[in-house]
Amino acid sequence: MTEAPRAVDDFGPDHDAIIVGAGFGGMGAAIALKRLGLDDLAILEREDDLGGTWHVNHYPGLAVDIASVTYSYSFEPNPYWSRLFAPGAELKRYAEHVADKYDLRRHMRFDTVVERAEWDDDGRFWTAFTADGRRVTGRYLLTATGFLSQPHIPDFEGIETFAGKIIHTTDWEDGYDFAGKRAAVIGTGATAVQLIPEIAKRSDALTVFQRTPIWVVPKVDLPIPGPVQSLFAKVPVTQKAARLANSSLLELLMVLGVLRFKQAKPGNKGAALLAKAHLRVQVRDRGTREALTPTYDFGCKRPTFSNTYFAAFNKPNVTLETSSIVRFEPDGIVTADGAKTVVDTLVLATGFNLWEVNFPAFQIVGRDGRDLGKWWRDGRFQAYEGVTMPKFPNLLSLNSPYSYSGLSYFTTIESQMRHISRLFGEMDRTGTDTFEVTEDANERFLNRVTDNLRSSVFYAGDCSGSRSYYFNQHGEATLLRPNSTPATLHEMSTFPLADYTYRSA
Ligand code: NAP
Repeated sequence: MTEAPRAVDDFGPDHDAIIVGAGFGGMGAAIALKRLGLDDLAILEREDDLGGTWHVNHYPGLAVDIASVTYSYSFEPNPYWSRLFAPGAELKRYAEHVADKYDLRRHMRFDTVVERAEWDDDGRFWTAFTADGRRVTGRYLLTATGFLSQPHIPDFEGIETFAGKIIHTTDWEDGYDFAGKRAAVIGTGATAVQLIPEIAKRSDALTVFQRTPIWVVPKVDLPIPGPVQSLFAKVPVTQKAARLANSSLLELLMVLGVLRFKQAKPGNKGAALLAKAHLRVQVRDRGTREALTPTYDFGCKRPTFSNTYFAAFNKPNVTLETSSIVRFEPDGIVTADGAKTVVDTLVLATGFNLWEVNFPAFQIVGRDGRDLGKWWRDGRFQAYEGVTMPKFPNLLSLNSPYSYSGLSYFTTIESQMRHISRLFGEMDRTGTDTFEVTEDANERFLNRVTDNLRSSVFYAGDCSGSRSYYFNQHGEATLLRPNSTPATLHEMSTFPLADYTYRSA
């Protein structure tokens, strides 16, 4: 990294590529580029270590909610997951293993916050400007900043007067002792579902402030015994078979339950019935059951898996509060029904901001001064194959509208690795070094996904009141790619090469 870019005309940019983000997405992109022979990489990471979400999140109860055989790189299986759904710390160790095995650490620069990136069309390179005043240049820019990386902290009236402790789940204080505390959790998303049973065990009193209930289905989770781990290690095809079986099940859930809702409504309704039966078995009090039952269709917002969440509401020290929060006072929270809950520890499980401050996570200015965030927000959120945009040459934006494919994030990562290989293979073949997707290809892709989405639960179902982050501020469901995993993988390996223009000096 240098204080100022070198004279790019004479020497070329500092690096082949700048990758922003050292989570699984950024590491997958780095592996893809290294396989293509691009080894001069700068992986810039705002946190102080690698692993992305699995470095940032370490709240009690954290575990993956897609079975680990599937939630991992297909080319780097880990036979030693301790459970079907590995705890968060194992994911962090797996990320470290991948970084070491693929020699990625030497490219990583931690505590480096990228604030802006700008394309230079004469020199055909990107400059990334960091918060500490440095500039880094690269022929290519790959952003892998995550979908859920900008914490959402609601602006509750009077919260600044609250005298107790406030913890956002992404900023967990390890070892914080809940014993003797009157705790509150705001939010009932996937994070809260994992956290609430843990805080219920540890605190004197816990009030859960729920605005929108979440669909929760049982989690079939078991330890993976030593002999099975040895079998996976010695006969890798057995783990591959387990991955295939699990991934196929998830695929059915995603395609039938969510994307093809219109054609396969009974599949979606079956999932909702399963979640309702789970609630019926676990929660004794009828009023609490009713309050915990969503009114929107299954799949409108990301459903979750847990065997302990509903049961936590049976505990005498746990209260479910559904009246909306009006204001904070120094010692508690006042709700619309006029009641006040005295609280000394407040946990904000309030999720992330995707559409206002993410997409992109920092300012990106392309050709002719096109500002990516402004272009998306003023017009429509869009990205060809979920990765590239017209007027943004040599940019691969890996967390973009329509890029999330399948239920496991690794589907998205590996499909994008294929896209990178095909695109860079073509530049290699034609002796070029600069690509840009055409306006026409981008428009065709946008029209197709918009059309396909009409069959999804987001448009054919009832998502009113779901407050789902799958929808952007214009009311469009622009996060998920509306086709099956095999279709995405196939398309990323076969997209028409003429959908891009190529050039060199
Ligand atoms: P989330 O799903 O966005 O949930 C945020 C929660 O906070 C919602 O219940 C939301 O209520 C509530 N909230 C936000 N602002 C509020 C306000 N002003 N007043 C009252 N309530 C408010 O965030 P998350 O739980 O962190 O999960 C995000 C995603 O992370 C998940 O969908 C999942 O993809 C991923 N995740 C994965 C794992 C895993 O694999 N292990 C674990 C955790 C999370 P509303 O619904 O009413 O807005």
